[in-house]
Amino acid sequence: MLDTTKVYSYSAVLMGSPILLKLFVNDEALAARVFRLIKHYEDLLTVNRAQSQVMDINHAAGKHPVRVSSPVYALIKCAKAASTLPNSAFNLAIGPLVKRWRIGFRGDSVPPAEDIARLLTLTNPQQVLLNDVDESVYLPLPGMEIDLGAIAKGYIADRVRDYLRKEGVEQGLINLGGNVQTLGTPAGLWSIGLKKPFSQAGAMIGTLEIADKSVVTSGVYERYFAQNGHIYHHILDPRTGYPLDNELDSVTIVSADSIDGDIWTTLMYGMGVEKACATLRARPDIEAIFVTKSKEVILSSSHHYRFTLLDNDYRLIGSTV
Ligand code: AMP
Ligand code: MG
Repeated sequence: MLDTTKVYSYSAVLMGSPILLKLFVNDEALAARVFRLIKHYEDLLTVNRAQSQVMDINHAAGKHPVRVSSPVYALIKCAKAASTLPNSAFNLAIGPLVKRWRIGFRGDSVPPAEDIARLLTLTNPQQVLLNDVDESVYLPLPGMEIDLGAIAKGYIADRVRDYLRKEGVEQGLINLGGNVQTLGTPAGLWSIGLKKPFSQAGAMIGTLEIADKSVVTSGVYERYFAQNGHIYHHILDPRTGYPLDNELDSVTIVSADSIDGDIWTTLMYGMGVEKACATLRARPDIEAIFVTKSKEVILSSSHHYRFTLLDNDYRLIGSTV
C-alpha cells in the first residue's frame, strides 16, 4: 500500500527557476531521471544560451530553413497556432522585442520608440514558415527570433507528468517555477498556493485544491523594472511592443494540460477580465482566476478546483461551487 501521508520532495534549479518534485515514494533515482528529462527539453528549447534547436532556427533567420526534432517542431506549430488566433496577445515571434527590453535582466530600460517600431516589423507570427514534410522552420527576415519562454515550462511539465505515468507513478506533483502539474489525488486533494503579487516569497492570497490538473500563473510581479513610477513587466503586447497594460496583476489557469495553461494565461492577459470571462464560457475545460490591481480575485468558474481566500485585503468575486 502506498503511504500518501509521507511526501518526498526533490528540488533542483533548472531553466533559471526553482524546480520541485513531490512523490510518495523515496526514489532518488527517479527524481534524477525527471530532472534529466527537464534539462533535455531545456537544452532543445532555450533562447537564453547561444545554442539550442530554437537558437539554430534564430541564427539561420534570413538565410535558410532549419530542420528540428519532432517535439520541437510540434511545439512551434502549436505556438504559431496560438499566435495567429484573431487579435491574439500570444506571439512566438516576439523574440526581438523580448531581447531589446531585457526585462528582469541587467541593463533593462525603456527602449526608444523608434527601436520598438522597427523591431515590431520582425515579429509577424505568420512569417514563421513551417514545412510539415521535413519538419523545418524558416524565419525569412534577418533579425527574426522565436521565443518559447511563455510555453516551454508548461510543455515540459506535461512531459514530466507523462514520464511519471509511464514509470507507474500514480500520485505526484511537479512545480516548474510556478507551473504546477499534478498526478492523481493524495490523501485529499493537492493544495496549491495562489501568490500574493509584489509580496515576499510564500505570501498567498489563497489556495486552490485540485486533482489531476495543472495550475499555471502568469503575473506582472514575476519579472519587471520600475522607471519614472511606472512598472514595466515581462509580458509584452505584440500589438504595441510595450508591456500589456491593464487591470491585472496575475492570471491563473486551471486545465488538464499545463501547455494550455501557459498559452491561455497570455491570451487572457491580452483580453482583460471581461472579454476573457466571455471567451471562457465556451471553454469549460479552461478555468481562470484573475487577480486585479484593485485587489479583487475573480473566478471565471470553479468546477475543477476549490478556491479558499486567505488574505482579507482581497475580495472574492465569482462562483466557488
Ligand atoms: P510566462 O511567464 O509564461 O507568462 O512567459 C513570459 C515569457 O514569455 C517572457 O519572459 C518572454 O520570454 C515571453 N513573452 C513575453 N511576451 C510574450 C507574448 N506576448 N507572447 C509570447 N511570449 C511572450
Ligand atoms: Mg505562459
